[in-house]
Amino acid sequence: MQAKTTLQQKDIEFIIDRCDACYIGMVDQENLPYVLPFNFGYHGGNLYLHAGPGGKKFEVIKNNNRACAAFSTDHELRGRHEHVACSYFMKYRSVLLYGLIEMIEDYDEKVTALNIIMEKYTGRTGYNYNAPAVNNVKVFRLVVDKAQGRSFGY
Ligand SMILES: Cc1cc2nc3c(=O)[nH]c(=O)nc-3n(C[C@H](O)[C@H](O)[C@H](O)COP(=O)(O)OP(=O)(O)OC[C@H]3O[C@@H](n4cnc5c(N)ncnc54)[C@H](O)[C@@H]3O)c2cc1C
Repeated sequence: MQAKTTLQQKDIEFIIDRCDACYIGMVDQENLPYVLPFNFGYHGGNLYLHAGPGGKKFEVIKNNNRACAAFSTDHELRGRHEHVACSYFMKYRSVLLYGLIEMIEDYDEKVTALNIIMEKYTGRTGYNYNAPAVNNVKVFRLVVDKAQGRSFGY
């Protein structure tokens, strides 16, 4: 059996960096799980997200802003014996971030957060933003109070 390894903060950042999406788990008004994929930026230990206005997620967050973000990468199927199902396993690296979602309302802070997201996906900053678009977009962050990383098979 492969060992599960608990990881340190630098490894957590390495894993998050390798992911192109995360999955935000929330709890809706009926106490049911609601999980959505998101693009993101990660900076200073917190997770930055953006979305168009409206939609179920904002009703959910307004009711309960506690959330958990899941990331996973480097999935690789391995098997020790070709014909033995239980000898197969999936290598992975993954992270869970727990915290509270906070809406970012200040214009300059929104632009900073959008730059964090843009930099993740394009590798550069210094974009131009037009004010009506920035005012319209919802920008929010998961203020992380607990981070856990795990690798399996690596
Ligand atoms: C890789 C990836 C990255 C994404 N990145 C972003 C992002 O950065 N910002 C962003 O706002 N959105 C992003 N999305 C879309 C996001 O996952 C949601 O679909 C979207 O934000 C709408 O959520 P909502 O709660 O407002 O749903 P609503 O539009 O209000 O729809 C509500 C209903 O639709 C269903 N639903 C909602 N989303 C999905 C879904 N993704 N798949 C299946 N059923 C769904 C739910 O059951 C829900 O009951 C991304 C999706 C993917 C796959």
